[in-house]
Amino acid sequence: MAYLSGLKEDKMTKEAFDSSVHEREKLNTFDNALKQFDIAAKILNISENQIAMIKEPRRITEVKLPVRMDDGSIKIFTAYRVQHSVARGPAKGGIRFHPDVTVDEVKALAFWMTYKCAVVGIPMSGGKGGVVVDPSKLSKSELERLSRRYFAELLDLFGENKDVPAPDVNTNPQIMGWMMDTYSMHHQQYLPGVITGKPLEIGGSAGRASATAQGMVFCVREAAKHLKIDLKSSTVAIQGYGNAGSFAAKLLHEDGCKIVAISDIDGAFYDENGILPEEAIKHVAKNKTLKGFEKVSKAKRMDDPMELLELDVDILVPAALENQITKENAKRVKAKLIAECANGPLTPKADETVTRNGIFIIPDILCNAGGVTVSYLEWVQNRMGYYWAEERVLEDLERIITNSFKTVLETSLEYKVNMRVAAFIVAISRVTKAAEIRGLYA
Ligand code: NAD
Repeated sequence: MAYLSGLKEDKMTKEAFDSSVHEREKLNTFDNALKQFDIAAKILNISENQIAMIKEPRRITEVKLPVRMDDGSIKIFTAYRVQHSVARGPAKGGIRFHPDVTVDEVKALAFWMTYKCAVVGIPMSGGKGGVVVDPSKLSKSELERLSRRYFAELLDLFGENKDVPAPDVNTNPQIMGWMMDTYSMHHQQYLPGVITGKPLEIGGSAGRASATAQGMVFCVREAAKHLKIDLKSSTVAIQGYGNAGSFAAKLLHEDGCKIVAISDIDGAFYDENGILPEEAIKHVAKNKTLKGFEKVSKAKRMDDPMELLELDVDILVPAALENQITKENAKRVKAKLIAECANGPLTPKADETVTRNGIFIIPDILCNAGGVTVSYLEWVQNRMGYYWAEERVLEDLERIITNSFKTVLETSLEYKVNMRVAAFIVAISRVTKAAEIRGLYA
């Protein structure tokens, strides 16, 4: 198969790959995130005091959640909420349910939220939550009890002017609905502005479900103009086929791109003639994952899903988890453009290699900011009690993301740095200014 050609150099299994890379590259996601900050802070020449005000998280909360399982037993789940900053508005950021959640991962994700909100100029700061759980092993009622317990246990942290969560990996609108209901019941009033990404019926926003991918597409359109890539004849590979990845496939396909490879936790699938995103979306809706997709489509199952990242495509969209492109595989990445739908998909070493190889990266804090942008618009609508049509939401989203892309691109040309450093330069300047204007209380 075409995708296998030239990719076999120092090949190993996924498990061996993960453990060897973690050992050699010390993949602490939070340390990696701080490295990105340090590069931009040095260029901006901000003072130690300014750094002290905006770099580390303000509040890290860990709780143990007792949850009654369907068989009557009680299980304890470790859970976190990190509020990285409240300098530019309430903390904002999703809640992740995943067995590999660690406090360092949640700290990194909260950190990225602070700078993501700043880079697109929405008046919010950074937070993130996580529960160490494999939700695929829970029944629907166990999942509901866990979700409600998480929110009840951390009730005092949340509030529409304090900390406003949203969905992330393995959480969805229904879970947001249970959490909003838990909060509203405790306060004996309807309080939809405490959480975003809710179903439309209870105060969700039109356009929120596809917002992360839609924002990425607005960025990709601008990047394609800059790089003189014709989207109509472009090929795309997408890692991850959940909320971000599946909408990414659908929307890029609508823009004329050919989606040649997709993957999820159950494997990667390749078709040089193009995969139909809707076919894969239907398959996942029925079967939960892409498992067996080769049986219902013309796509072939790839032997090693990690090879999707090394395909000779125009656009690579990581839309799964952090640390997927590392110093081990970065040298084999062939895409012209990487659009980071996922948070932190490249390690700092991979970033260096890929940049050196002339690959243009749209960094996560800009590329996937469509999600938080429409979350912000949802929060605004909740506070007004007045709801906009999808066209209005998309219009605002396009304006915010396209302008932000242009600002970051101009900054990258002005400072002669890559787009990631430029995005941090823009964002750190804004957060520093806000922290300074507010000053230090007491
Ligand atoms: P999701 O749970 O809806 O989907 C995650 C997908 O990744 C699933 O298809 C899963 O099977 C797949 N996956 C997990 N491990 C994988 C692996 N090792 N290889 C290949 N695929 C794997 O989550 P999501 O909301 O789509 O989030 C995906 C990424 O996008 C995360 O990094 C998240 O932080 C980021 N993000 C999401 C949003 C949002 O609004 N949902 C916003 C900004 C950023």
